[in-house]
Amino acid sequence: MRFLKTLKAFILNTLFPPVCVSCKKEGEFLCMECLKKLNKKKINPVYRRTEKDPDFHHLDGLIYALDYAKNPQIKAAIKQLKYRFTKELAEHFGRLIAEKLEELNMIKGKQIILIPVPLHKKRLNYRGFNQAKVIAQEIEDKLSNITILNLLERIRHTSQQAKLNKKERHENLKDAFSMNKKCVHKYSSNNLYFLVDDVCTTGSTLENCAEVLKKNRITKVYGLVVARAFK
Ligand SMILES: [Zn+2]
Repeated sequence: MRFLKTLKAFILNTLFPPVCVSCKKEGEFLCMECLKKLNKKKINPVYRRTEKDPDFHHLDGLIYALDYAKNPQIKAAIKQLKYRFTKELAEHFGRLIAEKLEELNMIKGKQIILIPVPLHKKRLNYRGFNQAKVIAQEIEDKLSNITILNLLERIRHTSQQAKLNKKERHENLKDAFSMNKKCVHKYSSNNLYFLVDDVCTTGSTLENCAEVLKKNRITKVYGLVVARAFK
């Protein structure tokens, strides 16, 4: 399996050598210069749930480093990350979030718990890594008051979300997540819980995860993503 994956990556890289999604320079999926430019942008303020907002019922807010609409190259980068098994991009994105997260006042003096959105075993085997976990790992390595906890597990394999509309997405994810019984955790009011994922498109994945956490004594749950795409 691992051999096949390496072979697949090798063939893809030979036929379609990596090209920077932003400036089209050959060599890397997102070159250092372009990454530096993205790093200069300030992290977006927390998008908070409001009464009028029908999208979020369980999620308390969303922290995102980049906006799809303002950074169209990010869309291409995320696609690469998902379909071409480019783990390096996930690492880049993790470092990007880590640098920006330090500027946020809401995390000061708090213990941050990162919960990567889990992949089903089937998809994990296919892709070889969970991009949310790789991003979370980079953040944990960079900042001191941050711990990863795999509080959630994916109990149901779901079809690809990309082709579905918002309502279908929500239905598709119903009962897909549950609390990971193997993960023992003491709840503290000084903890802030961040659900980590690569993108937030309609928010249904984060919503479904937040719902499970809130049914299990966790009171504040925020999403933490590289890019947001919804209006
Ligand atoms: Zn570039």
